[in-house]
Amino acid sequence: MPSVTIIGTGYVGLATGACFAHLGHDVVCVDIDERKIDSLSRGVVPIVEPGLDDLVTEGLDAGRLQFSIDVDGSAREAEIVFLCLPTPQADDGSADLSYVEAVVVQLRDVLRPGAILVNKSTVPVGTGRRVREQLGRSDVAVVSNPEFLRQGSAVRDFLHPSRVVVGGDDAAAVARVADLYSGVDAPILRMNTESAEALKYAANALLATKLTFINAMADICEAVGADIFQVAEGIGLDPRIGKDMLNAGPGWGGSCFPKDTRALVKIAEQGGYDFALLRGVIETNDQHYARIADKVTEVCGGSVEGLKVAAWGVTFKAGTDDLRDSPAIKILQMLHDAGARITAYDPTARGKYVAHPWMEIAPSAVAAVEGADVLAVLTEWPEFASVDPHEVRDVIGAPRVVDGRNVLDRERWRSAGFDYRGVGR
Ligand code: NAD
Repeated sequence: MPSVTIIGTGYVGLATGACFAHLGHDVVCVDIDERKIDSLSRGVVPIVEPGLDDLVTEGLDAGRLQFSIDVDGSAREAEIVFLCLPTPQADDGSADLSYVEAVVVQLRDVLRPGAILVNKSTVPVGTGRRVREQLGRSDVAVVSNPEFLRQGSAVRDFLHPSRVVVGGDDAAAVARVADLYSGVDAPILRMNTESAEALKYAANALLATKLTFINAMADICEAVGADIFQVAEGIGLDPRIGKDMLNAGPGWGGSCFPKDTRALVKIAEQGGYDFALLRGVIETNDQHYARIADKVTEVCGGSVEGLKVAAWGVTFKAGTDDLRDSPAIKILQMLHDAGARITAYDPTARGKYVAHPWMEIAPSAVAAVEGADVLAVLTEWPEFASVDPHEVRDVIGAPRVVDGRNVLDRERWRSAGFDYRGVGR
């Protein structure tokens, strides 16, 4: 079994490292965040991700998974080094490659002869080639292995992916990286580096487009008296369309879609193509947040000034504690700017909310709505669907609810006396 070092122990790096250890590889996960590494070394996983705690414990107990802050030392030892580093959005919308480039320069004189450097970060087409040039090492192969896992089901997605993509010019290195996945039952697609890099952006852009489409259809349904549930079910059964990513909601956000769609617009621009379709998708999605904020304002009679808005859900989707580019926060910020006081509940509420001091955090879903003028459901946590509307009715100031995720039972809430507004119905 080749030894594997993962540089960048975030959502992707940690899931990758823990899953590779589970598959039997010897893995060291490295990060510059000492607190994170200290916590992980004690078996305490600092993020919410189903099943990850068990895999980290299993890896530590078996001695197959280690955590370290020593980037050079860990990379020097490894046969295969993965980069799982941030590629955030730069000011002009392109992907900021500074984290990746800094580590590549750092590894130039560190990697052992014959090592393979694998890029798992989402990077613009041409990055693999640039990394090879920067590295300037003919004895080190550079391979692209984009990641498709979804936060909230990262472990399941990694171990049961729909496909594994490995790109590179060095067939032997590509084969060695593909071998790491033996035990994973999925087609392995081998291709050139550019195709692997482009494919990752294509996947995220198409998924974002599908979500924007269903959100736009939801707006149309509201205007013409149709029901988005029935429309989505009816189109989703067509195998050419598929039923996933057809839940209307408050607009997409999170750590990937916003930056990756913008980066693809930029990649296209640099290639001489105006990706007007994708620009439209991004713009439509940005406007959609305001549609939900407007719904809340509307149900309150035209203004939220001085009112208390209770929010259920703050993370960008259920199953994760990640707040990066969360639609919920954008919507709540709009309502706060319009003069509302915000009290939110989220099952993963931790110290992270300190970054939004205008938002008060309640200890439970029911506590959040005490005395509120309206409830807005912004993340699709399953526990919200099981809250008894009568219990909420007893403590809320005014029985109004905007269900931005269509997770509540509309008839139940209406019969409990609520003015219920969903999305697209
Ligand atoms: P993250 O921010 O959660 O993790 C990145 C980690 O890298 C952090 O822990 C950070 O401390 C560490 N780091 C930064 N500089 C470092 C350095 N010099 N040495 C060692 N560690 C360093 O990011 P993420 O969500 O895991 O995403 C990583 C990449 O994977 C991005 O390119 C992203 O687009 C891509 N991706 C993310 C997802 C997802 O769902 N989050 C899915 C697929 C692909």
